Amino acid sequence: MEYDRNYVMTIGGKRVEARPAIDVINPANETVIASVPDCSREQLDLAVAAARAAFPAWRAQPIDARKALVRQIGAVLAAHAGDLARLLTSEQGKPIQDAEMEIAAAVYWCDGTASLDLPVHVNEDTPERRSVTQHVSLGVVGGIVPWNFPILLAIFKIAPALIAGNTMVIKPSPFTPLSLMKLGELLLDVLPAGVLNIVVGGDEVGPWMTEHPEIDKITFTGSTATGRRVMASASANLKRMTLELGGNDAAIVLPDINIEEMAERLFWAAFANNGQICIATKRMFVHKDIYDAVRDALVAYARTVKVGDGAEQGTQIGPIQNHIQFTRVKALIADAHAKGLVFAVGGEVPEGKGYFVPISIVDNPPQDSRVVCEEAFGPVLPLIKFDDLDQVIRDANASEYGLAGSVWTSDLAKGEEVAARMDTGTVWVNEVQYLSPFASFAGHKQSGFGTENGLEGLLEYTSPRTIVVKKNPAL
Ligand code: NAD
Repeated sequence: MEYDRNYVMTIGGKRVEARPAIDVINPANETVIASVPDCSREQLDLAVAAARAAFPAWRAQPIDARKALVRQIGAVLAAHAGDLARLLTSEQGKPIQDAEMEIAAAVYWCDGTASLDLPVHVNEDTPERRSVTQHVSLGVVGGIVPWNFPILLAIFKIAPALIAGNTMVIKPSPFTPLSLMKLGELLLDVLPAGVLNIVVGGDEVGPWMTEHPEIDKITFTGSTATGRRVMASASANLKRMTLELGGNDAAIVLPDINIEEMAERLFWAAFANNGQICIATKRMFVHKDIYDAVRDALVAYARTVKVGDGAEQGTQIGPIQNHIQFTRVKALIADAHAKGLVFAVGGEVPEGKGYFVPISIVDNPPQDSRVVCEEAFGPVLPLIKFDDLDQVIRDANASEYGLAGSVWTSDLAKGEEVAARMDTGTVWVNEVQYLSPFASFAGHKQSGFGTENGLEGLLEYTSPRTIVVKKNPAL
């Protein structure tokens, strides 16, 4: 049988073809769009060995040379943005304009991260002694990314890891491997061999990476359940790790908002990327005085939104990305029906091709219902009525997750005050999902471990090294 030469792994600066083993499905119509390799253990070992071999020369380069190459990754993404966006839509399902935005954000992240500097801290400089702390690279970094933002979340890892002087083996989700595989191929002429290796495979490859004795750090984005497994497995050689995990973000909507102005923004807070965003609003608490009006405005807006194939002009929300997630979201909706909960809109999943779930808003479900407690990761939003601010802050914080949250109010000082009481790594006032390569993004509680983005995120790809010089050895 002929191998599918369209999609290759990149290992040690070479295109690595292997027998296609994993079908990649377009979630809008359930057709198989490609078949990709399933990385063997030997191939993973080769990728890790290639990264290890490339490490000394890469680390020895001046940081500005590494930054220049990361900027070039951005330039390659920008130069191929159209093709990559179309590929992303076909494998991920998101509307083409959202795919274009994802690529543009990845370009911006390459440039932004490349403008950060690794600090050198002078701890002490006296006639006797000089003590300086620098931040040095770790070695080989293993990156594992999910299927909701396959390019952007990979770049969140690739840019800082490489700038800090590490080499990498990165693995996309088997549901959405194509765009990252293509990027790997495009970068073969840009990066020195072995600096960035891209492997693709099924369920076994992630655990092989997390337990691999020659990988020094794992940077993982995915679910909290998998994050726990990653942490346990990485203990064998005390790998450094960054875990960006699940969330159940609360929005607290105070009674002084301008509903007309805010309804659309509130809607997209929950439903952008079909709700498949770690930092989507997944519980919306609305003050009782405006609850009915906000609900009605959200429902009216929802009725204007076009759900469909992301490749079609005008589509604003695509399908759920994969069948497993589709089944999970349907189970959550079925549970809501079984408990007698009321849908203000949606709630009926149509038969037919494609993993489509209609925009669904659950009207004031109880706090202990599954649709409130669990991360839906799909277009199902519980809208919850509140009366007392202290109580709603307690309710918002009553979650094992602590990724992000938001407060909506015309009173900015009040907004900041409420934000400061939320137990999450990021809180927005009057918007959501604004991330930046210059600001730390860190999940509290079981939403993560460590930080991505900003200087703190860059430092996660380093270890501190303190050098102490006794200036007069004779004394
Ligand atoms: P997932 O945990 O199922 O998979 C994530 C990645 O881990 C995939 O590449 C998968 O192949 C790999 N993997 C699976 N089992 C593994 C194991 N035992 N060891 C190592 N790797 C393994 O997550 P998903 O369903 O792809 O993504 C959705 C989840 O990701 C949601 O919970 C979402 O909130 C979370 N997420 C978090 C962030 C963040 O920044 N905090 C961003 C996006 C998504």
